[in-house]
This record gives sequence, structure tokens and C-alpha cells, in this order.
Amino acid sequence: MDDPFVQERRSMVNDQIRSRGITDERVLVAMEEVPRHLFVPPDMERDAYRDHPLPIGHGQTISQPYIVAGMTALLQLKPGDSVLEIGTGSGYQAALIAGITGRIISMERIPEVARRAEENLIRAGIHGVRIVISDGTAGYPEEAPYDAILVTAATPTVPPPLLSQLADGGRLVAPLGDRSIQHLVRITRHGDEFVRETFEPVRFVPLIGEYGWQNEDL
Ligand code: SAH
Repeated sequence: MDDPFVQERRSMVNDQIRSRGITDERVLVAMEEVPRHLFVPPDMERDAYRDHPLPIGHGQTISQPYIVAGMTALLQLKPGDSVLEIGTGSGYQAALIAGITGRIISMERIPEVARRAEENLIRAGIHGVRIVISDGTAGYPEEAPYDAILVTAATPTVPPPLLSQLADGGRLVAPLGDRSIQHLVRITRHGDEFVRETFEPVRFVPLIGEYGWQNEDL
């Protein structure tokens, strides 16, 4: 396919991601391959590879490339892993993860946002992403357990159903904190034990649902 952004994508990976210490080759390769410009509104294509998040409508955002890369690297993915994402948004991060593992289930609460993500994935020629329109704070028990669970919206606590849907040895990554600032955390399950590590500060739109925040304007 004719892709005018190949060079910009290479620069994004080198200047924003590799240079900041992300070394997971699978993540770097996926970021070089997935056409991020097809996951932003058409009038913002030119800005798709810049070092910041962008609005995608309905008050939602596509995260900064470095944050997407960092969260994906924290999941320590390998081909064949079963993955659940909460917060499809543009579908971009789901596309990256499908490129690494082969498949992902991604949950989105806003139907119009989910439909746009479906369109983006088709235009980008990405297979392996299944979008479920529902409150993701309850997880998706039908396909549990998951080797990796990614929450891409800010939450005050990790929704308990997500912890129970994590496989033994599975990793969950989420932005944990209040409405204005969160920290990335990774929780790794060892049997009945959940080990938590805390990483850098981030700012995400809120996770709204039964086990997240109750409404949008608190
Ligand atoms: N991962 C996305 C960015 C996510 S933005 C990307 O790559 O573009 C956060 C998304 O989470 C928004 O689209 C928002 O509607 C969604 N969201 C918020 N609460 C949710 C919930 N309880 N279940 C599913 N999706 C939710």
C-alpha cells in the first residue's frame, strides 16, 4: 500500500520511543507498522505522529505514542497471549496489540466510538480485534482468563472483576489515581497473590462504569 507516513513513523519510534528507553522489539516493530494516522480524525492526519495525545471526538482521546508504547511494553506480550483491553477509543492500541499477539478483545462503552474504531481497523487492514460494546469494568468473563489486561481510562481502583479474570502469571496495566492525575501500575498475578508495581504519572480520560467512576462530570 502507498503510505506517505512511513518515514514519520520511523522517526516517531526512534525519537520518541526508543530514545526514551523502550526496548521491547515486538512493541517497536508494531509501532513502526501500524498506520497511526488512520486512527485520528482525517483533519488531524498530519499531527498523528507528534509527541502528544489527540482528540478523537465524544470527549475521548488517542494517547501519546510514548504512553501507548510504554503501556504495551509493561504487558510483556508474546504471540498467542490472550488479551483484554478496556477502552477501545480509536482502536489504535488494540491494533498494535493484535499485531503482537494475533488477537485481542477490546471493550468500549460509547457505541459511536466503537463504530469509528471498527472503521479505522478496516481501513488499516488490521485483523484480530474484536470489539465488545459494554461496560468494561465488569470485564468479559466469557473469554477469561487473560494473559494480559489493559485499562486505557483512569480509574480510582482496579475493578475487582478484572483481577479475577487474570490468568496465573497474567499482567494487568492501568492508570490508577484520581480524576486529574494517575500513575501507571502493573499488577502481576501469582496464584492468589497480586503483586503491584508503580510507574510514571499519566493523565487519562475517566473510566465510567459500575466499578469505575459513576458519571462523567464529577
Ligand atoms: N486505547 C485507546 C484510548 C482510550 S481513551 C486508543 O488507543 O485510542 C478511553 C476510552 O475508554 C474512551 O473511548 C472511553 O469511552 C472508554 N471507556 C470509559 N469507560 C469505559 C468502560 N467502563 N468500559 C469501556 N470503555 C470505557
